Amino acid sequence: MSEVRTVAVIGAGTMGRGIAHAAALGGYRTILEDLLPNALRKAETEIRAHLDQAVELGKVNVVAADAAFSRLEYAGSIDQAAREADLVIEAVPEEMESKIEIFTMLDKICRPTTILASNTSSLSVTEIASVTYRAKKCVGMHFFNPVHKMKLLEIVRALETDDETLAAAVEVGKRMRKEVVVIKEAPGFITSRINAMIGNEAFYMLQEGIASAADIDKALKLGLNHPMGPFELVDLVGLDTRLHILEHLHKTLGEKFRPCPLLAQYVKAGRLGRKSGRGVFEYPEVAKEESATESDVDKELEVIRAAAPPAYPVPPDN
Ligand code: NAD
Repeated sequence: MSEVRTVAVIGAGTMGRGIAHAAALGGYRTILEDLLPNALRKAETEIRAHLDQAVELGKVNVVAADAAFSRLEYAGSIDQAAREADLVIEAVPEEMESKIEIFTMLDKICRPTTILASNTSSLSVTEIASVTYRAKKCVGMHFFNPVHKMKLLEIVRALETDDETLAAAVEVGKRMRKEVVVIKEAPGFITSRINAMIGNEAFYMLQEGIASAADIDKALKLGLNHPMGPFELVDLVGLDTRLHILEHLHKTLGEKFRPCPLLAQYVKAGRLGRKSGRGVFEYPEVAKEESATESDVDKELEVIRAAAPPAYPVPPDN
């Protein structure tokens, strides 16, 4: 089995930042890439803060935290990030077209031995892998939010994934200090399928006016011992991400996963959760921070759009 030394992470959003943090702490040279320079700057700041927090809590010693930070590199193009990687973990938004675009490019850029993983929460890794000439080296690595705190990693064996690739993904997961479960590909895997069902049902309850969002959360936490309420959780995950997952599960598993209209309406209103300052609940601090950086992001997008046609689509505004 060829050893993984360098990990590239494509997409420095909520998940990509956390995956890069865990990979660097696991001892890997880690290269993080995003279309938006602002996302990379935010990632660097957040990873430093989370490492410092881990030191303060006595979970990591200061030498290990500094070593992890120094293992991180930031790349402005997918080519620069993936060229030298032994494993690439894709963490761009949950849309099949984006994943296919990225995997097609990665297949051309990467060495033939490089493993290509997707952090998709629900899409078919088999379908994503089918656009490459290395389907046996493609695998799902489904991390949880926030990655630096959550213990679980679901490793998804797609139709063609070979034993060697699976073993390498398990080994990387363990070095990233995760508890691993290996599952055969199925829509939504284990966790997204159950979580989407609970979260959707909670939105139907809210829509029907059965109880307030705060009380629905309270009931699940205190009555069913869930560590977080479904609305608190969807605000963390992102309402847009949850909607994409439900749409996919609805298409593949049927009527019981039809997205609640209220959820779709919140997404249309731009209420995407913590990341936009407002989801089911309000996060005034984030909203203030976002409005300060929004114009920078707009400027960056303008520059990217004004340059030669993008090699791949500009991400949706989430
Ligand atoms: P996000 O919107 O927070 O981040 C996505 C990042 O990808 C953005 O920074 C964006 O600029 C970047 N991006 C978009 N297109 C790109 C491209 N072509 N090349 C490089 N970068 C690009 O999304 P997220 O919540 O981090 O989700 C990423 C993936 O992880 C999705 O597949 C999602 O389903 C999965 N996931 C999310 C969660 C969660 O709780 N948010 C949990 C588990 C898995």
